[in-house]
Order: sequence, then structure tokens, then C-alpha cells
Amino acid sequence: MEQHPTSAPVTIGRRPVEAGGGPTRAVPVPVAPMPTAGPLVDTFGRRHDDLRLSVTDRCNLRCVYCMPEEGMTFVPRREILTFEEIVRLAAVARHLGVTSLRLTGGEPLARKGIVDLVARLGSLGFADLSMTTNGMLLAPVAARLAEAGLTRVNISCDSLRPGRFAELRRRGDLDRVLEAMDAAEAAGLRPVKVNVVLMAGVNDDEIVDFGRFARSTGRTVRFIEFMPLDADGQWGRHRLVPGRRVLDAIGAVWPICPVVPEGSDPAPAERFRFVDGEGEIGVISSVTQPFCGTCNRLRITADGAVRNCLFSDDERSLRDLMRAGGSDRDLALALRRAVWAKASGHGINDPAFAAPRRSMSMIGG
Ligand code: SAM
Ligand code: SF4
Repeated sequence: MEQHPTSAPVTIGRRPVEAGGGPTRAVPVPVAPMPTAGPLVDTFGRRHDDLRLSVTDRCNLRCVYCMPEEGMTFVPRREILTFEEIVRLAAVARHLGVTSLRLTGGEPLARKGIVDLVARLGSLGFADLSMTTNGMLLAPVAARLAEAGLTRVNISCDSLRPGRFAELRRRGDLDRVLEAMDAAEAAGLRPVKVNVVLMAGVNDDEIVDFGRFARSTGRTVRFIEFMPLDADGQWGRHRLVPGRRVLDAIGAVWPICPVVPEGSDPAPAERFRFVDGEGEIGVISSVTQPFCGTCNRLRITADGAVRNCLFSDDERSLRDLMRAGGSDRDLALALRRAVWAKASGHGINDPAFAAPRRSMSMIGG
């Protein structure tokens, strides 16, 4: 495990993060030596305690905003992290102060043996061990996942109309996903959060329907702005539905108010509750209102690359390090270096922005 240095921990200055998540993705010039003990911090003083770990880049669906219908190239299986490697990395991250671990993909439930993996990760002491899933394979394993130590799930569901749902997710079945939400709640995987990616002219006429769904089910519906992370490269601002528009549309029907004052919560979703007490919604305005200033996230791809931002191509292979005989201390240092190199913002709104080389399902959303 990581060795603690004998010298006093370095205090780094908190540098301001650019408002609006930009303007640049340039790697900042460090203002102090990188600390080799204490929490995982970057040069802007942002503490990283939330790890998104992708367990596979494969998926049983082909959502239009994520993967192409045909011809997706997957990482060869031998290059994907083994369970032993995943558990080892999670343990190192836990030792570095990561308290929240989210399993994602591709579709995490498409990975064989996922319940056993959750059980092994469940013994590492994360305060929160969650999963983002498309829900198609969830219902039969929800109870076993909960027993294994999973605390909660986010389930993606972009339409409440069966035909449209099938079109958007290409191989999806709305009834099965709604059953998965019931099964998750019955298993104690609460609160179930529902992720909705909105696309203008595609499903933005369902904003109020989803508001009603949140009120009638008690599930938090989180509206996510479409990001330039689709494998087809079809993203464009004309397809963007700003979070503000969602709040206006829902607020016009049922009064809402913020749950947590903006800026005091590192979670990306701005949360709002219905004033009459009937539930909650959230907006994740990654494009129009970037939350880079409070970002506390770190990602590891299914093939073991650590990434400090969804939109940065800065990747370091922890898999290669492990397979070359690297120690836990080497892994901890690699994680620290990755965080230390994090830019102030993702720069989506910078005219020079270019979408990252890997798309959402290859990174782990
Ligand atoms: N397969 C699982 C699922 O769909 O929930 C987990 C992986 S998926 C990549 C994680 C989340 O990213 C999902 O909520 C999905 O809707 C979202 N997502 C995928 N592509 C996106 C994009 N281009 N913009 C915004 N969100 C996206
Ligand atoms: Fe698969 Fe999730 Fe991407 Fe849809 S969003 S294609 S379910 S990884």
C-alpha cells in the first residue's frame, strides 16, 4: 500500500477554477509539489473521492446518443481488467480516500459474474457502492446485488412511450426497465434514480411526463444534457435541451425549489423538490452550466486507464502498470498523478474544443 512520506503534507493553494468549465483544457502548471499523502487532490484544491469504474465496454443496447447501431469496436477481452485487477484498484482508491464507487460501462450487468464482483468490492468499505445500468438485466439479480453490498442504482430510461423507447435505445424494452425499477426498490436498492438523456426534437416533449412520473413514483428523475460523447459523432447544439428549459417546463406545472444551494454539493445534478412535497427532480447541465469547479470524479475505463475527466484524452494505463509488476504504491502514485494533471474545466464551450477520442460507452459514464 502507499507509503507515507516523513515530511509534512504539502498545502496547496486553492486556485480559482474557470467559470463555465473552460475556457481551456490545457494542463495547469502545478503551483506546488504533488502531495504523496492525504486525499487525492488536484492543483485547484478539488478533492477526489468519487470513482466511476467501468467493468465492460460491451452492451446489450445501442442507444442512439451513445453507440452506433452496427460496427462498434470493442476492446479485446484479454485487455479488459480481470476481477482481481478491479478489486485491487478499488482497494488502492479506497486507501486514497475514495468513499463512493460507481460501477458502470458499457452495461455493467452484461459482465459475467458481476454479483461476485460486487460482493468483493462490497467488503472494501465504500460508504456508497452504486451502479448505473440500462436495467434490461436487472430485475432477476436485484436482490442478489443488494445482498452482495450494492447500495443503490441509477437506471437509464429516456422515454415513457414504448415505441419511442425502443427506437432510442434500439434494442430496449420499456416494460422490462420499469419492472427493473420495481425490483430494485423491492430489493432495497433505494433511492432509484432515473437518468433521462434529452435530445431536442426527439424526446423533449416528455419533460412534463417525466415530472409526473417523478411525482407519482417517488423516483428522482435526472435530466441529462446530451454531451458530445456519442460514437457516431452526431452531437450538435441543435440537439441540446438546456437544463434551464427543463426547470421552466416543469416549474410551470408544479412549483419547484432547489434542494441544495448551488455550489455546495459536488454532485453534478442540481436537485429540485416539488414544493408540495411530492418528489424530486435533478438536472445535469454538463454543457450549459458545467460543474467543473466542484468536480470530485475520477474514472477508470474497462481496460484499466485512469481518466481525470470525461472530456480529456489524458489516460494512464493502470492495467499495464499492474501487469508489469507495479506495486500498490506505484498504482497510488499513478492515481495521484492523474488527478494532479486535471485541467480546470472540460472546455466544451471553448471554440477549439474537440470531442475526446473515446466515446461514452468506452469511457464509462
Ligand atoms: N449502460 C448503462 C446505462 O445506460 O445506464 C451504463 C453506462 S451509460 C454510458 C451511463 C450513462 O451515460 C447513461 O445514463 C446514459 O444515458 C448516459 N449517456 C450515454 N451517452 C451519453 C451522451 N452522449 N450524453 C449524455 N449522456 C449519455
Ligand atoms: Fe449501452 Fe448505456 Fe450506451 Fe445505451 S447508454 S448503448 S445502454 S452503454
